[in-house]
Amino acid sequence: MDKMTVRDVEWQGVRALVRVDFNVPLLDGRITDDTRIRAAIPTLRYLLEHGAKVILLSHLGRPQGRSAADSLRPVFERLQSLLRGVEVRFADDCMGPEVERAVAELPECSVLLLENVRFYPQEEQNDAQFAQALARLGDVFVNDAFGAAHRAHASTAGVARYLKAVAGLLMEREISVLSQALEAPERPFVAVIGGAKVSDKIGVLENLLPRVDALLIGGGMANTFLAAQGYDLGQSRLEPAALDLARGLLDRARQMRAQLLLPEDLVVAAALAADAPHQVCAADSIPPEGMALDIGPRTVARYQERIRGARTVIWNGPMGVFELAPFAAGTRAVAQAMAEVHGVTIVGGGDSVAAVEQAGLARHMTHISTGGGASLEFLEGKTLPGVAALTDRPVR
Ligand code: ADP
Ligand code: MG
Repeated sequence: MDKMTVRDVEWQGVRALVRVDFNVPLLDGRITDDTRIRAAIPTLRYLLEHGAKVILLSHLGRPQGRSAADSLRPVFERLQSLLRGVEVRFADDCMGPEVERAVAELPECSVLLLENVRFYPQEEQNDAQFAQALARLGDVFVNDAFGAAHRAHASTAGVARYLKAVAGLLMEREISVLSQALEAPERPFVAVIGGAKVSDKIGVLENLLPRVDALLIGGGMANTFLAAQGYDLGQSRLEPAALDLARGLLDRARQMRAQLLLPEDLVVAAALAADAPHQVCAADSIPPEGMALDIGPRTVARYQERIRGARTVIWNGPMGVFELAPFAAGTRAVAQAMAEVHGVTIVGGGDSVAAVEQAGLARHMTHISTGGGASLEFLEGKTLPGVAALTDRPVR
């Protein structure tokens, strides 16, 4: 990586101002999934073991000003239990004289979690004074919040103007795994793209098409591609406004002789419901009252074969309405084939990650991205502001 990381800094006695992504799902004030907190632990341990004072910044939810429902206090409690043996403190604010005092009193090798940065509108405005107030709390800025790196906010990008800024271990891993796949993949390189809409992922499709050996399309977006080829999709969900985009991509694939694979059969139901009658139909014989809700068994077999034969696989977006059991087979089949790959397997996207976890296959993947939106933008080839703001590694 061409950016400095926590490994490039001498930490003894140094105040590490660390941006983490502790934006965890809460239900009635309880954390329902602490994956994001766990994902930051290696960086925190590294800093603590090297003698740093660790000051943590994060956002949570979308508060309009201060709100008890979006307090990081539940995260503080979970962090205490995940960092047993380490002193972890909490501050009711993220800047100002009282927070500065709490930082000054913080012993080495301990942690101070600051309150939600989004209690201030200046955070999302990337306000320079606010960023400076944050910068006063540390000597070196560490960004480990890959999930927020696609945002140019005060605590992800602005603060880096005033401090040396280095990547945390999670940030480093996300960037190196994803850029290795994009820039120098072991081949065959296969991308599996699904999910709800073409328009959400057109940038990813365009950026991946010239890089991959095969692009396998599924999910709701496959309907739009099939419709663009003239098939009648009945009542299936599709995006009329994206038909031209789909046609353009199909043309480009043909010109480049790239392999863009579409479903040849689909699971078609009478309604979007788990108890709706359903059947397998060829792509060219979907009944007018039917809805395509999953890829069919022939498509599954063909996609699985391509995935199993690959040395690098990137997957983003489920193959069907996997939330409903009768339409989850295609998505599960992709996860299973990926688990058997001898090579690099990467899963990004909130729903695809949930599907892999549901299937109990997460530990068989090389990398599960912690950043839905950020990983999508990375795969689109965009520069993430939170990454761009990091200090370049000096050229030797
Ligand atoms: P990710 O979060 O992995 O990036 P998306 O958010 O793009 O994925 O898409 C996930 C959603 O797409 C799921 O809620 C799923 O039900 C829906 N979906 C997948 N296939 C279909 C389909 N054939 N028709 C309607 N919705 C679909
Ligand atoms: Mg999603």
